[in-house]
Amino acid sequence: MCAIVGVYGSENAAKIAYYALFSMQHRGQESTGISTADGKRIHLIKERGLVTDVFKEDTFRLLQGSCAIGHNRYSTAGDDSILDAQPVFARYKLGEISVAHNGNLVNKYEVRNRLIDRGAIFQTGMDTENIVHLIAKSQENKLEARIKDMLTKIKGAYCLVIQSRKKMFVIRDRFGIRPLSLGRLKDGGWIVASETCAFDLVGAEFIRDVRPGEMLTFEEGKEPYSEQIFEPDYHPCAFEYIYFARPDSIIDGKNVYNMRLEMGRQLARETPADIDLVLPVPDSGVAAACGFAEQLGVPFEMGIVRNHYVGRTFIEPTQEVRELKVKLKLSPIRKLIEGKRVAIVDDSLVRGTTSRQIVKMLKDAGATEVHMRIAAPEIKYPCRYGIDTPTKTELISASYTPAEIAKKMNAESLGFLSIEGLKKSLGSDRTYSLVSFDGNYFAGGSAESPSCSEIFN
Ligand code: AMP
Repeated sequence: MCAIVGVYGSENAAKIAYYALFSMQHRGQESTGISTADGKRIHLIKERGLVTDVFKEDTFRLLQGSCAIGHNRYSTAGDDSILDAQPVFARYKLGEISVAHNGNLVNKYEVRNRLIDRGAIFQTGMDTENIVHLIAKSQENKLEARIKDMLTKIKGAYCLVIQSRKKMFVIRDRFGIRPLSLGRLKDGGWIVASETCAFDLVGAEFIRDVRPGEMLTFEEGKEPYSEQIFEPDYHPCAFEYIYFARPDSIIDGKNVYNMRLEMGRQLARETPADIDLVLPVPDSGVAAACGFAEQLGVPFEMGIVRNHYVGRTFIEPTQEVRELKVKLKLSPIRKLIEGKRVAIVDDSLVRGTTSRQIVKMLKDAGATEVHMRIAAPEIKYPCRYGIDTPTKTELISASYTPAEIAKKMNAESLGFLSIEGLKKSLGSDRTYSLVSFDGNYFAGGSAESPSCSEIFN
C-alpha cells in the first residue's frame, strides 16, 4: 500500500512528482521521498511525514533534473524508521540508481537470505532493497539487462519505477495487481503514477494503464519504448476499488466511485433491511452507502461527522489507542439518528474495531435498531500482495460468522457483499485478485507467511 510516481522529460519534474504524491497521500502517510536525475547525478530527499511537511520551497532547489521519481509509504505498525522511506538510492558498478516500489514481494526472505549468505548487508527490512542488490549483483553489462535479470528473481506484486542518471524504467508485474497508469504532460514530458487522480492535479492527459508484464523505458529524445517482458495474467486488486484508491481515480478503465456505488446497490439486493435511514461510515463507506440507499429507496444522510485532523485509525499499534481514535475521529448527529432504525454502511470489516464502536455510538445517539452493512465480502485471509492486512487471527471474519459478529457488536444484523456480488459489481471482463476473500494466493505466498507489518519487528 504505497504510491509511486515517475516523471520524465519535464522542466518541472520534481514539482510535478510532488503534486502527484500530494494527490496520492491517501496511499501512504508515513514517509515520502523524491529523487531526481539531471544526467550527471541523482539527488534525493526523503523523510518521515506527509508530502506537505517534507517538501518545502527550498527543497526543490536541490531536486534538479528533468526526471523525478517519488514514493509515499504506508504506515505499518512498528517499522517507522526513516531508513524505510523510499526511493531507495544506491551507487554500484554502473553508476547510480534510485528505486520506488509499490507492492509486496512474496519471496523476499529467500532472496534476502541468499544475498546475506553471499555477504550482502542491508539497511532496512524493505523488499525494495532486494531489488537494488539484485541489480547491483547482476553480471550483465547494461542496466536494462540487469533489471530484466533482477525481475526473473523476484515474485509477487510490484509496480516499479527505476531511475538511472539518464533513463527511467517502469515495470508492472505480470498479474497487474497494483495499479499504474501512463500519462502525458502539457510540456511534452511523461508521467506514470499509481492512480489517475495524480494526472488530474498536474493536468496530464491519461494515455493508458501500464500493461501487466510490461517494461517501459524512457530515454532522452526518444518516445517511451515498450517491451512485454512477461506473459500477462491480469488480476487487478479488487481491494483498490473497495477501499484503497481514491474515488475519482480510474483503474483499468473503471471509475472507482462508480464501482463503489454498484457494490452498495448489489449489497442492498443481497442483504436488504427494514430501515428508516442509511448512514455511511465517513469517508470510506460514502459511495457504497449512496448505492445502498438508492437501491432500497431509503433516505441517505451524512449522520456521522468525521474529524479530518486525525490520521487513519487502523494504523495505531495498540488496541486501546485504536479504540480511542475511533471516537476522536467520528461523532454522530443525534437529531438525525434519534428514534430511527438505521443501516450503517462501511466498505470493509477488518478487525471489527471501528464497527463495534460505531454501533455503540449510534445506539447512544438514540438509534432504535442498527443494521451493519459491509460493501465487501468477509475478509478471511491476509493479503500478501501489498495491502497491509493483519494476521489471520486478527481478522474477525476468519474466526466468526456474520451472526456471531453482529452479536459481539450489539447490532441487529450484519450483512456482507457476496464474492459473486463483488465480481458482478466489478464486471465479468476481468479475473480480479480476491485473495483476502477467497484465499487464492495465485501469485505465491500463503496465509501463513508473515505480513508486511510483522516482518522485521
Ligand atoms: P476494522 O475496524 O479493523 O474492522 O477496520 C475497518 C475499517 O478500516 C474500515 O472503515 C475500512 O475502511 C478500513 N480499512 C480496511 N482495510 C484497511 C487497510 N488495509 N488499512 C487501513 N484501513 C483499512
